[in-house]
Amino acid sequence: MQKIGIFGGTFDPIHYGHLELARCMRDQLQLAEVRLIPTGLPPHRAMPPVSPQQRFDWVKVAITGEAGLIADDREVCRKGYCYTVDTLTELQQDTPNALLVWLIGADSWLNLNRWHRWRELLDIGHLLIAARPDYAFEGLSPDLSEEFANRSVIANTDTLSRGKISLLSSPLMPVSSTLVREMLARGEDVSALTPVWRQLESSGLYRF
Ligand code: ATP
Repeated sequence: MQKIGIFGGTFDPIHYGHLELARCMRDQLQLAEVRLIPTGLPPHRAMPPVSPQQRFDWVKVAITGEAGLIADDREVCRKGYCYTVDTLTELQQDTPNALLVWLIGADSWLNLNRWHRWRELLDIGHLLIAARPDYAFEGLSPDLSEEFANRSVIANTDTLSRGKISLLSSPLMPVSSTLVREMLARGEDVSALTPVWRQLESSGLYRF
């Protein structure tokens, strides 16, 4: 069965943490393809000052030369709110025989029960959760704990399956887009945090 990795995010801007997670899921689970899907108009956040198309363009630059990593502009091109459940449903309709393996970080997982139609979302593909510094599972709500208990399996190429949840074995990476934006606003060097530091610096964006 074809397995497609899905990694959505605001990518405001993309950083090495994102890139490393995409590589980890590709390599550990032998996914021929991992799609990075920048949000258009995110449902849980105010519209960022940098345009969706700009964020998408930086994702494209960041994954240049990375085997199997693909920048997908479906949310950027869509008008109105983009819910993950709609995007995954659309992807599943486009590739009915494929298994969607989608990734979120621990901060997103702790809030997943606030996402639109979240239980349905869990049934669409196999969810991978990446650990993140300062986001411990102890804070998990009872409904998410229950889902995790019922659905979790150790992630490997044989256990990938619709409706399951696994922890991705990935390094703890203390990097965030917030940190990149804050450092740029202070005029600091972000070349250790993001592959698109040249583009960010020359754009002058985030320097407010
Ligand atoms: P911001 O600081 O603006 O909130 P972010 O760094 O969390 O941004 P997003 O584009 O919002 O980046 O993240 C997309 C997805 O990647 C989310 O599911 C998030 O949890 C995950 N993610 C981002 N950075 C990391 C990281 N360092 N470790 C683990 N997961 C991460």
